[in-house]
Amino acid sequence: MIGIIAQHARNAANVLDGQTAIDPRVLAAMRRVPRQAFVPPALEASAYDDRPLPIGYGQTISQPFIVALMTDMLRTAPGQTVLEIGTGSGYQAAILAELVATVHSIEIVAPLADEAERRLRQQRIRNVTVHRGDGYYGVPSAAPFDGIMVTAAASVIPPPLLDQLRPGGRMVIPVGGAFALQHLVIVEKLPGGQIRTRQTLPVNFVPFVRSGSR
Ligand code: SAH
Repeated sequence: MIGIIAQHARNAANVLDGQTAIDPRVLAAMRRVPRQAFVPPALEASAYDDRPLPIGYGQTISQPFIVALMTDMLRTAPGQTVLEIGTGSGYQAAILAELVATVHSIEIVAPLADEAERRLRQQRIRNVTVHRGDGYYGVPSAAPFDGIMVTAAASVIPPPLLDQLRPGGRMVIPVGGAFALQHLVIVEKLPGGQIRTRQTLPVNFVPFVRSGSR
């Protein structure tokens, strides 16, 4: 899996500002977390394929290359506190937990949140708190965050998430319509509070849903 990720990174260099490799810290985290523990038992044999897999409720665990790329784009550092929107299987949260001090992750489908919590506990990952609710509003009680990663495609960047990003912090978010063209966007909040966004490669995420819409 790590070899495929490295190959993809070289191929994607044109959209990665010429960067041809994923941060070795990120690859090391991906080597440590067993992806098979985060997929349904029937799909364990496919756990290391470089593709998304269904996790129930119409949702997916993201493709490993995309997990690596988004984690790399977040530019984490030890000691940080980060927020993930869309816990899903809990796999991305587990990768972030290897790289920072504290991870908050929020999921709108309660049974997925329960299942992710169980998996994280089983892996003895203790620095992730799973919240239930609409991630549009972030987790104000734990803000500000050094980094925010959104793993469902939003049509706009939710303003509450911008508010909860620490100056100097970064957000990585797929922006675009449900089942329409989406791009991975890097959002930087400059030390003075100004927001700078940069569109990178096209992606294909499940839609960001809003409470009340299901
Ligand atoms: N990060 C996940 C991938 C999850 S797919 C993993 O590593 O497995 C996206 C997830 O976002 C789905 O579980 C979906 O239910 C959730 N989601 C969609 N809209 C949301 C919202 N408004 N708030 C919180 N979670 C949301």
